[in-house]
Amino acid sequence: MKITSVRAIPMSDPVPPERQHRTDLGTKVKSDAVLVLVETDNGLTGVGASLGSPPVLCAIVEHELAPDIEGENPMFSERIYEKMYNGSRWKPSLDRGHSQPDENRRNGMVMEAIAGVDIAVWDVKSQAMGVPIYQALGATRDSVRGYASGGWAPGDEAEEEMAGYAAKGFDAVKMRVVGRDGFSIENTLRRVAAARRGIGPNVELMVDAHGSLDVSTAIRLARLLEEYDIAWFEEPISPDDHAGLAEVRRSTIIPIATGEREFTRFNFESLFSHRALDIAQPDVARAGGLTEIRRIAAMASARGIRLAPHAWGTGVLFAASIHMAMSAPNCHILEVSQGYMPMMNELFVEPYDIRDGVVYAPDRPGLGFTLKEDALDRFEYIPGPEFVF
Ligand SMILES: [Mg+2]
Repeated sequence: MKITSVRAIPMSDPVPPERQHRTDLGTKVKSDAVLVLVETDNGLTGVGASLGSPPVLCAIVEHELAPDIEGENPMFSERIYEKMYNGSRWKPSLDRGHSQPDENRRNGMVMEAIAGVDIAVWDVKSQAMGVPIYQALGATRDSVRGYASGGWAPGDEAEEEMAGYAAKGFDAVKMRVVGRDGFSIENTLRRVAAARRGIGPNVELMVDAHGSLDVSTAIRLARLLEEYDIAWFEEPISPDDHAGLAEVRRSTIIPIATGEREFTRFNFESLFSHRALDIAQPDVARAGGLTEIRRIAAMASARGIRLAPHAWGTGVLFAASIHMAMSAPNCHILEVSQGYMPMMNELFVEPYDIRDGVVYAPDRPGLGFTLKEDALDRFEYIPGPEFVF
């Protein structure tokens, strides 16, 4: 079996004006993604997806990565990853047994493109094996707890919003530290108290600051939140400040979660050695695909760190995250977005199997989901930024 072509297709999912709202990230007017298609000489097509700027990513896939991969056997998925990551020095790197990465491929949008191709390679490889990806990776489970991820409601409205997630059957829910009404410590405490009232004492509650606070504000907030029994405090400060994250972690009994913006096991090694986190949240479409996220999961397990993959984007990313969660023993929970996301929830013919807050694995080969016939027309790329301020 040989890979005959690698293609990247830019996609957008506009948010209708009545659904747009302002958060700390700005006002989201659309979601972008890149669909990666890997075709083989025996008629199989693998599907992957990347985050990042679609026109840039498409150029990277077409000009940088495709020439490295065409002609390879998708069963050699580790070699394909190493080829993409090490670039021209892939052979000496494998001969000597240590990485010699290409200077442009270690992180950023090139790594996001590599991740997208890697997911597509795993899809095609598992289809050829006739098993779902999670079984090709090595299955641990066929269902996993999901948590409802959302929580932007202002003030006391958080009570009803979070109660609504719990009413769907989720026994874990996540809210944003910065609501639609902006941020102050007092307002966040009011919103978290409302959320706790709404869900009662037995549903886990997580909070996510999107890396928007400074160290001292994060520590102050964390200490005040302790009485609300918070399951994790996500990205309290800039994800780049690993020492600062460790400082926040040492100052509170609330577990710290981070990792959705990190690239490769090397970034995670830095988080681990700083003792900066309790929950690792690699994004399979950013951190390096299923090949690299599996290595990150193993490294995390050696530190007693659990995995909760970041899964916010296209259906392809969500499907790949399902397979990761079914495979990694230390993946205890999976993010289930409650945002406005047709490109996640209406991309495939088959619906996701989520019942009473539990996500079930698909039993079909590969990724296990078929793109709808009109998907590429419906989610045609729209130039411009995703967020406006
Ligand atoms: Mg987050």
